[in-house]
Amino acid sequence: MRKGSLIVLSGPSGVGKGTIYAGLLKIMPDLTVSVSATTRAPRPGEIHGKHYYFITRDEFNKMKDNGEFLEWAQTVGNCYATPKAPVMEKLASGYDVLLEIDVKGAKQVKKAYPECKTIFVLPPSREELARRLRGRGTESEEQISARLALATSELEESGSFDYEIINSDIDKAIADVKEIIEKTKE
Ligand code: 5GP
Repeated sequence: MRKGSLIVLSGPSGVGKGTIYAGLLKIMPDLTVSVSATTRAPRPGEIHGKHYYFITRDEFNKMKDNGEFLEWAQTVGNCYATPKAPVMEKLASGYDVLLEIDVKGAKQVKKAYPECKTIFVLPPSREELARRLRGRGTESEEQISARLALATSELEESGSFDYEIINSDIDKAIADVKEIIEKTKE
């Protein structure tokens, strides 16, 4: 049986990865996703097991030490990771898997699984990225500043990804990622 493709969607926090991801799932029903583990507290409306597995730092460290993660990263004060087994099982069963993860994590996945396709989502401008992060209303001004400072160094890494797309129009960005995923089938 043909193995599925592993697609990694990355880019700075606030760039719209989550919106692209949700939009893709609506138009590509066969695409499967990975639910990450995080030590971050849930935001209002976030559901354990759907948006993230919300775990303690102790639980995170145990899973990390047991080699249960495909990649992990500490970013803006919290730990995030992709549980390895579900991703590998889905790929082996022929399903395409989409990961929405930070830049450090994307680079680890590329190293561990070179046949994956990495996509970097760029903001139209730094000002627009700041506006989107503030508009979300979920982070304090201190957290927003930390995310913007990190974005500056992350943006310098975009060239090492397989693809770069600019999220100035959400429908166009979703169509661009869909086209990239479809290309992996050719
Ligand atoms: P947020 O706290 O806004 O949900 O996510 C913060 C950052 O962590 C985002 O850039 C998001 O893509 C990233 N992230 C979410 N899940 C994972 C993961 O499993 N691994 C890594 N490396 N980053 C993740």
